[in-house]
Amino acid sequence: MIITIQNQVSNEERNQLETLLEQVTGNHKTVSTLMDEREVIVLDGSRLDKQALAAISQQRAVESVVEVKTQYQLVSKAFKAESSRIVIGDTESGQSVIIGGSNTTPVVIAGPCAVESREQLLNTAVAVKAAGAQILRGGAFKPRTSPYQFQGLGIEGLHYLKEARELTGLPVITEVMEPEMVEIVAEYADILQIGSRNMQNFPLLYAAGRNNFHRPVMLKRGISATIEEWLLAAEYIVSAGNPNVILCERGIRSFDTQTRNLLDLSCVPLLHELTHLPVIVDPSHGTGRRELVPTMSRAGIAAGADGLILEVHPDPNSALCDGRQSITPDQLKSIVREAQIMNQLMEGITHHSYVA
Ligand code: PEP
Ligand code: MN
Repeated sequence: MIITIQNQVSNEERNQLETLLEQVTGNHKTVSTLMDEREVIVLDGSRLDKQALAAISQQRAVESVVEVKTQYQLVSKAFKAESSRIVIGDTESGQSVIIGGSNTTPVVIAGPCAVESREQLLNTAVAVKAAGAQILRGGAFKPRTSPYQFQGLGIEGLHYLKEARELTGLPVITEVMEPEMVEIVAEYADILQIGSRNMQNFPLLYAAGRNNFHRPVMLKRGISATIEEWLLAAEYIVSAGNPNVILCERGIRSFDTQTRNLLDLSCVPLLHELTHLPVIVDPSHGTGRRELVPTMSRAGIAAGADGLILEVHPDPNSALCDGRQSITPDQLKSIVREAQIMNQLMEGITHHSYVA
């Protein structure tokens, strides 16, 4: 249940509401946060009877009460019907990028899996910009399956990302793996990436939700996470005070080893039914095979994705991380073009009324 608090409320009215909530919830956990600049209180409404609900609605401090039937609440469409529009980067310099909302063209995020060197990152950044991508990706801290694999350049990598942004004007996204590193990564990155392996790292979700730089967060789907678990992970970030969450479908573990993961594109239209958060698709990790990336990029847009995230390397075969699924800047250029064409086609379809 989500209670929106009146804009002008006296201390007395506020205290009255608090006292009532303590009584009717039996001190059950309530969370108070801001949503679209309005104060809201969120609690598990399934425990309340009709009388309690009526008493809450009648409080002077209360503007409205929305009963949300799902466990995830703030991220649900039941609470907020219109799609969230997330602003990335610096609005003052005019270099901001919008993800989500209605009628936007899909955003393409591209760059290497890992920041490997200054030269590799700057060259790739210039090439992905020329290819038409709007945001640069690059991992400085890499969550690797084996401790003997390249773990990323760490802070040094963050410096190169900053330099790449200055050089190209592209906002940058990079992964943060631990709560203690959120502020330092947020100082450099325009979007914080929370990786698959950390989707349910709750202290990390909270820390990203509270980051002092107010950076949006891209939350990748856990390796074998259900959609509900994923939305509840997003709820942690939003309930901690950060409404700017982008969901990223990157494939889930399956029995078949032909592809690295099973890219679940049916989650895209489903998520648009369940949540107002934007959804982007990662065909690189979703397939693990570069030859499948162009087709699955088109398919992602056709499924209604608000954007794509793609791994690009100037020389994929020599990449220190995920070379098998990385495409070249030339291939990226075609994908960007195809994504635009696919989007125009989709707009044509949605604006057409069908006569049976
Ligand atoms: C990545 O984006 O390079 C990455 C590690 O992704 P995931 O968390 O989806 O495996
Ligand atoms: Mn990768």
